[in-house]
Amino acid sequence: MIPVVALVGRPNVGKSTLFNRLTRTRDALVADFPGLTRDRKYGRAELEEHEFIVIDTGGIDGTEEGVETKMAEQSLAAIEEADVVLFLVDGRAGLTVSDEAIAKHLRSREKPTFLVVNKIDGIDADSACAEFWKLGVDAMYQVAAAHNRGVTALMERALAPFADSLKDDDEEEGLIDLSSVEDIEKADLTEEDAEAAYKRLQEQPIKLAIIGRPNVGKSTLTNRILGEERVVVYDMPGTTRDSIYIPMERDGQEYVLIDTAGVRRRKNMNQAVEKFSVIQTLKAVEDANVVLLIIDARENISDQDLSLLGFVLNSGRSLVLAVNKWDGLDNEVKERVKSELDRRLGFIDFARIHFISALHGTGVGHLYDSVIEAYQSATKRISTSLLTRIMQMAQDDHQPPMVRGRRVKLKYAHAGGYNPPIIVIHGNQVNELPASYKRYLMNYYRRSLEMMGTPIRIQFQNSE
Ligand code: GDP
Ligand code: GDP
Repeated sequence: MIPVVALVGRPNVGKSTLFNRLTRTRDALVADFPGLTRDRKYGRAELEEHEFIVIDTGGIDGTEEGVETKMAEQSLAAIEEADVVLFLVDGRAGLTVSDEAIAKHLRSREKPTFLVVNKIDGIDADSACAEFWKLGVDAMYQVAAAHNRGVTALMERALAPFADSLKDDDEEEGLIDLSSVEDIEKADLTEEDAEAAYKRLQEQPIKLAIIGRPNVGKSTLTNRILGEERVVVYDMPGTTRDSIYIPMERDGQEYVLIDTAGVRRRKNMNQAVEKFSVIQTLKAVEDANVVLLIIDARENISDQDLSLLGFVLNSGRSLVLAVNKWDGLDNEVKERVKSELDRRLGFIDFARIHFISALHGTGVGHLYDSVIEAYQSATKRISTSLLTRIMQMAQDDHQPPMVRGRRVKLKYAHAGGYNPPIIVIHGNQVNELPASYKRYLMNYYRRSLEMMGTPIRIQFQNSE
């Protein structure tokens, strides 16, 4: 499971600065759910080989009778959700009463906590840090978030306990991950055996996460799927993990439904649905092979929808979109919804869109086809010769530009991973290729390979 890191500290110590620093490895994406999480921000970060979720708790002022009451609701929730807490203080401002109040509170939790003294640029860090030992911490880390000093070292330490478990997870997933695919490639199998190995890979159960903001119809859809005659639901393992995993089979295809709506956690239908949890949703995305993102046809596409979508795109998961509550809308409204989708989501060219009614079941049966298609695209084997041939055709149709008087030349391409598919292109000066040409290659590959439902990533490697 992807680790969750919470940033805690009084206002102005540099939490947002660190948050932006950590999440912008890829565009900073923030799931900000007003009303549900107040000003807690969620982002996805990648650093070296680590992937993690960061929560910025906004300002906590530990002094207003806060720590026990107000801070409680806000930051406590974030602290509870987190696997690691980074407690930020300001090395320039020195120790404050708020810091002490927060420290006291944190000591009462049993979370691994790292004291982070920020803004140590241009000051005598060691003497500035000395007074913070009073907070009773085991270790402190000196950083200057604004200048990216000490950040990598801090995160290496904070995330070290999770590095091993990540590796184990990868191994468990078997053939899907990069090293296993390489194993197949390296194993020197006959073409037939390799084909069979990849076929087995495609026959694994599809982990499907149904996500969407509150009230879009996740529970209704989950119940509809599980209640369907053609669906066989297996006994679920008595797991109390964050999301519940429901193994099921339909038309010979096995799935594991990741139930973020908490449908299966209710003892009976009358019990209230559990509160929507951003973290649970984000973890479900990370753990899924295919994400089914539900949008409500009766609401405008909101920033929350876009944040969730951005998160899915960043994670590289396969994606199917379902516009729900399509029942009983008149044509004018339907047209309006469609043009809004075009306008705001038109940039996602790889995901199929379904218009469904979870309530009445209309269109639900067709979702499976797109889910299977997305999964197969994401795990399909693509040979080096095919990837190179397509690359060559793209290059013949439209030459790469000149850089410093020399034409960029693409030489060959091979697969670098699956789920999402990664295509590695070797050539000279390829790092100099403009974004427009990279996009051209991406679209060329997508068209030629007819890959729907999955993003494709292209990496470039200079071979000079
Ligand atoms: P937050 O309220 O805890 O989220 O704090 P912000 O990230 O908004 O930072 C508060 C102020 O501190 C801003 O003016 C930042 O530019 C500044 N700041 C953040 N990190 C550093 C740092 O490493 N060095 C210095 N000198 N200033 C910093
Ligand atoms: P969740 O919070 O995403 O799990 O959403 P629910 O499944 O609880 O649905 C929220 C509300 O939308 C409920 O009142 C549902 O009856 C209603 N709803 C769900 N799906 C549909 C649909 O397809 N059509 C209509 N008209 N209402 C729906």
